[in-house]
Amino acid sequence: MSLNRKLIEFRKMIRANQKKVIDSIIDDHSTNICVFCGESNNLTREHVIPQWVYDRCTRRTFITTTNNNTQTYNRTTVPACQDCNNSILGELERHLKHKFSAIDLRNEYFSDDDIDKIILWLETLEYKFHVLDLRRNLNKVQGSDYIPYIGQMPIAMFQGPMDQSPSKVFSNLRNALKTLSIKSKDSRHNSLCILHTTNPDFHFFHSTNNYIFIELAQYNVAFFYFYKQEFATAKEASTQAQEIVKTEYASTGTEQVNPGDAYGAPDLGVKQVHQN
Ligand SMILES: [Zn+2]
Repeated sequence: MSLNRKLIEFRKMIRANQKKVIDSIIDDHSTNICVFCGESNNLTREHVIPQWVYDRCTRRTFITTTNNNTQTYNRTTVPACQDCNNSILGELERHLKHKFSAIDLRNEYFSDDDIDKIILWLETLEYKFHVLDLRRNLNKVQGSDYIPYIGQMPIAMFQGPMDQSPSKVFSNLRNALKTLSIKSKDSRHNSLCILHTTNPDFHFFHSTNNYIFIELAQYNVAFFYFYKQEFATAKEASTQAQEIVKTEYASTGTEQVNPGDAYGAPDLGVKQVHQN
């Protein structure tokens, strides 16, 4: 089955089961069902951030603490069935990896169809973080002092405020899943900034309901995506994204790449690629 065909099925499955899935996660935050389609058989553990994403990172383990239990961040998973994890999302990632390695962003750009797929992929990450956030919030309600913490810079995960009401958390979770079932991402294209990067290492930060930044050093590409905010032009989004990247790099003490490279990369080591 082609990837596009699989994605049609994926959207249908989400639409048909989203109520069941969300109700089940809200009812029991550690429920063992596929967080995408609700299937309870053939479950696998879907990595919140796929391991290939930080392939070239010099630090392979990122510490996160859950209820005082330390685990490495690259083992943070949510349950997903084999179809959703391996067949559909796995295929989407394989497709994107192929595109990332084939493109030279200095003189070409992704097709609209691939931009739709990049956005969908970034949306799946957001949804998985929402699932984790819900667990965190429920843990907090239950009196634990769970604070998600990723200590090994340059990786940093910036979560939303801790005092969100449960109903707000639930509706955000619901919307994050629903978003995955929407085919057209046209109205979202300006909210995705694609950057050519020359940094040697992987960087990542994420703010739930807000934005995500992923720098894939092995492909010389970085993505900044605003989950909610809309922009009249791609330029506006890019300006704002650059400001946030600059602030985050500064706060994590990230080494900045020498600006004197052939493509005029700014101090950040990332350069906005303009759409033709
Ligand atoms: Zn599934």
